[in-house]
Amino acid sequence: MTKIFEKAPAKINLLLDVLRKRDDGFHEVEMIMTMVDLADRLEMEELPRDQIVLTSQAGFIPLDEKNLAFQAARLLKERYDVRRGVYIHLVKRIPVAAGLAGGSSDAAATLKGLNKLWGLGLSVSELELLGAELGSDVPFCVRGGTAIARGRGEKLESISPPPQCWVILAKPPINVSTADVYGKLRASQIAKHPSVPRMLDAIARQSFPDMCGELGNVLEDVTLDRYPEVRQIKECMIKLGADGVLMSGSGPTVFGLVSKEAKVARVYNGLRGFCKEVYVVRLLT
Ligand code: ATP
Repeated sequence: MTKIFEKAPAKINLLLDVLRKRDDGFHEVEMIMTMVDLADRLEMEELPRDQIVLTSQAGFIPLDEKNLAFQAARLLKERYDVRRGVYIHLVKRIPVAAGLAGGSSDAAATLKGLNKLWGLGLSVSELELLGAELGSDVPFCVRGGTAIARGRGEKLESISPPPQCWVILAKPPINVSTADVYGKLRASQIAKHPSVPRMLDAIARQSFPDMCGELGNVLEDVTLDRYPEVRQIKECMIKLGADGVLMSGSGPTVFGLVSKEAKVARVYNGLRGFCKEVYVVRLLT
């Protein structure tokens, strides 16, 4: 029987700006996002009965209609009147509720995998549109690469990849709700907005130091004020000599960018002293 395998990589935000709160309750954002090679893995195969069955080795995520992968399968089934069943096994490696879009990437991988398994013939832009119905980060996860995202995150423009580097991800043992963080943000009172044109210019010139200098996330203050452990991790990474440090998404994961391999072990070992979940990865360029 045909089995489809899909990787679902985590994303980081090199830049996250909020322009205003919209009348529909969403925030108008500008984000520059890229993928890293920390990924979940999904296996999908036909089921003889017309049903979606989702399993995972991870005991701490919902496996019913609350799971974004399940929702993606249901959306495709309903929209295209697919009367076939699917068994999805999700190998979870991306930390949950971490600001790394793990759930969104699982949804995107499910859309891509089932498009193949069920022979639906949908284009990437059609899958992106479907993804937007599931969550603001899903269209980017369908497209991959590096992109600037506008609107509530669904209006994408691909850009060239950033200069390659080491990415050290540290996640404190707390789960942060994206909705809570946006709820606490006062968009009209943001003191300093990061500059999208300067970041785009740094990436276009492949200048690693300038890219590090332009990192910015307006959600950082909200999460750092509420969770001192996130601030502590950020300060620690800076002290250990990471070249650029930023919280990803609504947190709590903080990432450090490092250009020289020799420095990676120092940052990693220094963090491991008080943060259990630390990953060393590369950009998916
Ligand atoms: P984002 O960066 O897009 O805000 P996140 O990385 O902060 O996302 P997720 O890991 O996607 O957050 O999980 C957020 C919530 O979604 C969790 O409470 C989790 O229970 C639920 N969830 C639904 N589906 C999944 C999935 N496939 N993997 C992980 N969590 C999921």
